[in-house]
Amino acid sequence: MNILICNDDGYQAPGLVALYEALKDLGHVEVVAPEQNNSAKSNALTLHSPLYVYQGLNGFRYVNGTPADCVHIALTGLLGYKPDLVVSGINDGANMGDDTIYSGTVGAAMEGYLFGIPAIAFSQVEKGWAHLDAAAVTARTLIQQLSQDGLTGASPWLLNVNIPSRPLDQIKDVRVTRLGRRHAAERVITQVNPRGQTMYWIGSAGRAKDDSDGTDFHATFQGHLSVTPLHVDLTEHAELSAWDQRLTKAVE
Ligand code: MN
Repeated sequence: MNILICNDDGYQAPGLVALYEALKDLGHVEVVAPEQNNSAKSNALTLHSPLYVYQGLNGFRYVNGTPADCVHIALTGLLGYKPDLVVSGINDGANMGDDTIYSGTVGAAMEGYLFGIPAIAFSQVEKGWAHLDAAAVTARTLIQQLSQDGLTGASPWLLNVNIPSRPLDQIKDVRVTRLGRRHAAERVITQVNPRGQTMYWIGSAGRAKDDSDGTDFHATFQGHLSVTPLHVDLTEHAELSAWDQRLTKAVE
């Protein structure tokens, strides 16, 4: 099995190192990851400045770009082969509900998916890397199961996985979930810099708004491993005919 690993926290992040160490004997495993922390960069591609690929002292290749840049470059020329699986993470903090729209961790996996490759994004629910070893073992176990079921190296799918930050024996069994919802983000934070200019810092993500049974929030609050299958079609299918009626009427 050929596995490409990326993340959004940067090529030196503990979550990336732990994921590589957990997966490295499952096949041929390569890392191409961002040089800097690129959290919340979603699927952004760098189109107006050059990208460079460097070799880190830890053996990982890194790019002066976004998570999606890394996977894009890897799949369109750098690797020279098509991986069987693209894995992203392990992220420092949850990517649940609306987070998935912003997440660079999900963006990296989604780039693989868009190129027709099965892909998984892994995140730890709490920031700070507590019980990272347990998260890495959990990721390995899930990938082994998917591989044994013949799902890697096959038709593309995209999974968003959130792992409770707990010791391994306290991570409960898998729940296949839907995305919950968050409230809108907290207020922007302003401070005056030493030159007297006002600085704006994006506020924290909002609290959970829909954390009902069946959501990723609910499952992880209960200590379960949450796995959400994602797709990329943003069409509001249920509203197609309603909009058709409104707009057809409007132009008549
Ligand atoms: Mn991140």
